[in-house]
Amino acid sequence: MEKKIIGRCPLCGGNVVKTCKGYRCENNIAEQPTCVLNINGIIGNRKMSDEEITELLEHRFILLDGFASKEGKAFPSVLELADNGAINMQSVIGKCPHCSGDIRVGTRAFNCSNYSNQQAPCNFAIWRNIGGHQLSLTEAKEICEKEITSNELEMYRDDGTIYRKRLGLSPDKLQIVKI
Ligand SMILES: [Zn+2]
Ligand SMILES: [Zn+2]
Repeated sequence: MEKKIIGRCPLCGGNVVKTCKGYRCENNIAEQPTCVLNINGIIGNRKMSDEEITELLEHRFILLDGFASKEGKAFPSVLELADNGAINMQSVIGKCPHCSGDIRVGTRAFNCSNYSNQQAPCNFAIWRNIGGHQLSLTEAKEICEKEITSNELEMYRDDGTIYRKRLGLSPDKLQIVKI
């Protein structure tokens, strides 16, 4: 029988195929399953695309927008594929380089969670779109952990011309600067 293969199972190396309910490792379909991977096609009230599942299988995490709360409020989240096959949703992507608080992904920026801390407020934020470049989760993590992106990123001026810079931290570790 023909099956649609979406990617390779990171838990057992088997094929992950598309089913009526979502995505499942072929070794989970067997009568005596040897693998637990079985991913629902709808996560956080958001329909997953085949391409997103492929990326999740490959990298074990993916940053996505458009999840919805019970109240219908949209929010971004990082999905992580855990070793036990579970999909964890998390908003924390790393530690603030300025105050060591948690950095959370928001709709427009990665923000320090001490933003509203009365005793020690912190304004550190990384815009998710800088110079027309949509920051990836890896790039945001690099700024937090290594203080600079490992690659030059393609950005765009008002007149459409392209320039390439790395993004890093200012000396006070509060601003994002192009280097
Ligand atoms: Zn598997
Ligand atoms: Zn902070």
